[in-house]
Amino acid sequence: MGNFIDSKYVKKICAITMASYQHGWDERNGGNVSLRLTDADLQDFNDINEVHRVLDLGFDAQKLAGQYFLVTGTGRYFRNVIDQPNLDLGLIRISQDGQKGELMWGFEDGGQPTSEFPSHLMSHIARLQFDSNQRVVMHCHPTNVIALSFTQDLDERHWSRLLWKMQAESLVVFPEGVGLIPYMTPGTNEIGEATAQKMKDYRVVIWPHHGIFGVGTSLDEAFGLIETVEKAALIYSQIGAQGGQIKQEITDDQLRQLAKSFGVTANPQFLTN
Ligand code: 13P
Ligand code: ZN
Repeated sequence: MGNFIDSKYVKKICAITMASYQHGWDERNGGNVSLRLTDADLQDFNDINEVHRVLDLGFDAQKLAGQYFLVTGTGRYFRNVIDQPNLDLGLIRISQDGQKGELMWGFEDGGQPTSEFPSHLMSHIARLQFDSNQRVVMHCHPTNVIALSFTQDLDERHWSRLLWKMQAESLVVFPEGVGLIPYMTPGTNEIGEATAQKMKDYRVVIWPHHGIFGVGTSLDEAFGLIETVEKAALIYSQIGAQGGQIKQEITDDQLRQLAKSFGVTANPQFLTN
């Protein structure tokens, strides 16, 4: 038996929030992350058995009843999580009727889960339909991805092709491409529903003029996905800085060869014949 604060889950969220901050993706309280945990993951801890507070979720999360989420707090700064995880993180259990979140640990100075918690939970629900190992939803504000949303048409095929062609890594890491929603007000159930709808086809969803949502089976995987998308967008920005003229690029045939070689299926709608 041990204290939850010493768990590998808390340690890893501390490391990921700091890494994301150091990349410049989480100014002030920007960004939030949630990690799904099960009873089995939590059996070794003795300080997570009491409900400290009950929170209204504002939508029906019945499909996640009994599951636990380690989540960042609203208004909290990613750069601080590492020094005060018991204040900036909370472990929330979804109630049996799916209407409430039961705080089992953390948020010790009165904190609440991120304002994007509905979007996170809706995205977890959507991805769990395809992948029972779905564990993580991460949102942050990567600079070059946001910049692209001002200069490019908001079209999934265009974005996916552009990002695939910026580096050989892209297609291997997100062969399905990237999803896009229109600009919407953050923190609402509406943006959560639109994001979750896109999560049926993609693991990355771009929020124009705001940021990105990425999912995965681990914190490393979700972070790595966002990192790869942002790296592609950064290369595009650098091309602009070098004059903007593209003299040669990865062709569609080369993308096909890449997919074959790495055993992934490139979204056929985003390749030309
Ligand atoms: P929170 O502080 O509520 O997590 O919000 C940050 C954010 O990035 C909103 O989109
Ligand atoms: Zn945000």
